Amino acid sequence: MDEFIFLNGLMIVSGFIGVAIFVLLFFISAPYGRHVRKGWGPMINSKWGWIIMESPAIIIFVVLFAIGDRRRELVPIIFLFLWLIHYVQRDIIYPFFLRTNKRMPYLILFFGLIFQTSNTYIIARWIFTLSKTSTYSVSWLNIPAIVYTNAWLRDPRFIIGIILFAVGYIINRHSDFVLRKLRKPGEKDYKIPFGGFYKFVSSPNYFGELILWIGFALAIWSWPGFLFAFWTTANLLPRCKSHHLWYKETFPDYPKERKALIPFVF
Ligand code: NDP
Repeated sequence: MDEFIFLNGLMIVSGFIGVAIFVLLFFISAPYGRHVRKGWGPMINSKWGWIIMESPAIIIFVVLFAIGDRRRELVPIIFLFLWLIHYVQRDIIYPFFLRTNKRMPYLILFFGLIFQTSNTYIIARWIFTLSKTSTYSVSWLNIPAIVYTNAWLRDPRFIIGIILFAVGYIINRHSDFVLRKLRKPGEKDYKIPFGGFYKFVSSPNYFGELILWIGFALAIWSWPGFLFAFWTTANLLPRCKSHHLWYKETFPDYPKERKALIPFVF
């Protein structure tokens, strides 16, 4: 089978599963972190869970870059750089600084691996190879493929996408940093976070993550990027709602004006 057709098929399947997961997560919060509970089978230490779960994002992306047709072109190299700046931090640095004693079910690890493997394959294969050989980025909708030549560096979609990526990255990093500082080494209780975007929302780390992936999707301007941004939304939107409710139930003095995810809106 033509790989482009396979990739399109995989995107459709992934999109449908993403919609189902999105709906499901409003009823059943993913059992890790503060929402971890019994009844989800054997567990693994959270740090190792994160490292293993996120590892395909680095391994597959780098391999598909190395064997791809566009490894000597500037724009794809910039996408590689952006991806790695996020995932080296998330997969290799972030887990070692976590101040948590939580464990996560192997089931979460398993689903995370499937999500990372399929979505990383879709994005990396598109950027580094299929965007060069395919006439259309989405054939059935007749959307022309973006050819990632140096002219793309001056396109507003690329420029705005990169700016959003940088803004989202900074908000995400800062917010995760604030959370880490809430606990001294060895502590495991929860506190109300303050500072930065916590003034406005309960989960600014998720808010930053969403902006980051929307920016990435704009910058690569193709369905694989928008699918990844959608999957991130499907994971984080229901979860930020659960976090917000949990904060309000746990802390009677929780700031009333704080929203769940989007400042002043939601
Ligand atoms: P959380 O905000 O739930 O937790 C992050 C860490 O901070 C955990 O170690 C947690 O401890 C600790 N923490 C959280 N709140 C408090 C508090 N009030 N007081 C003390 N410690 C606290 O984030 P996630 O674990 O869900 O996600 C981590 C990162 O991964 C985020 O940056 C997120 O954006 C990203 N992510 C991305 C996804 C995607 O689809 N792209 C999906 C999921 C996450 P404990 O473990 O004890 O709860």
